Amino acid sequence: MKIAVLSRDAALYSTRRLLAAGEGRGHTMTVINPLRCYMDITARSPQLLYQGSVLPLLDAVIPRIGPSHTRYGTAVVRQLEQMGVFVANRAEAISRSRDKLHCLQILSQQGIDLPLTSFAHSNRDIDGLIELVGGAPLVIKVLEGTQGVGVVLAETHQSAKSMIEALRELKANILVQEFIEEANGEDIRCFVIKGEVVAAMKRRGAPGEFRSNVHRGGQSSVVELSPAERRMAVRAVEAVGLQVAGVDILRAGHGPVVIEVNSSPGLEGIEAVTGVDVAERMVDFVVTAVKERRE
Ligand code: ADP
Repeated sequence: MKIAVLSRDAALYSTRRLLAAGEGRGHTMTVINPLRCYMDITARSPQLLYQGSVLPLLDAVIPRIGPSHTRYGTAVVRQLEQMGVFVANRAEAISRSRDKLHCLQILSQQGIDLPLTSFAHSNRDIDGLIELVGGAPLVIKVLEGTQGVGVVLAETHQSAKSMIEALRELKANILVQEFIEEANGEDIRCFVIKGEVVAAMKRRGAPGEFRSNVHRGGQSSVVELSPAERRMAVRAVEAVGLQVAGVDILRAGHGPVVIEVNSSPGLEGIEAVTGVDVAERMVDFVVTAVKERRE
């Protein structure tokens, strides 16, 4: 089959792994930079142009859209969908997962447990916002942040209030969340492909750090998931409408809670820690889906 990885950088670990996995299975693999694609969106038969020529027909595309280019990247994915190309994650679902607030609203609506979370527009409602999540200590998250940047812990009511005021003053969109202290600076990343958790790892923050992001000095190790955690990860991905995603779970005292669903989860850490060939699993999923669609 002809499969493209939609990625800005062919040298990235995840992109290279997907290419190698596809080629290893005998497929023709290419990397397409979504930002170099342009399109006639009014044409009767939708097309995508890439670096000056019409893109050759593809069987499937694996989108790896970075958070800084969600809007244009998803427009390219949507165009591919309209051309009848199978996409591993649909544009609509990618956009949904990128809007943290929308994503949490969907998860909560589907009855998936989350940390108590609140959100407001006006500075006049800050005390109420803090009370909704059970008071300090609490976590404040800048909605546009990734890799733990813009996630802060406020230990007292007063510090929470002044942090929220300062961020609101800077026009940042924030949400306020119950601090899951029992998680002990650890979270669990579940890699889900088409209704199955194919790999999972535990990430632990650097000493004294409540954020477990590897980019912030965290360490990863293998983890055994409970059946409830497995089910929760799969349900979260399905609720958002994705097929391939990373789900981040915290182990709270009252059970697991989901904090994030990521539509372009990295492969490097999870493959190294678990030894699972996640790239191959992704290629196999795509190939099976294309075959099923043809039948
Ligand atoms: P990002 O998308 O920027 O990585 P996250 O929401 O995933 O932001 O938060 C970063 C890290 O902070 C998480 O991996 C987790 O370890 C920690 N964290 C996030 N939310 C909470 C919370 N409500 N309670 C305790 N720790 C949290």
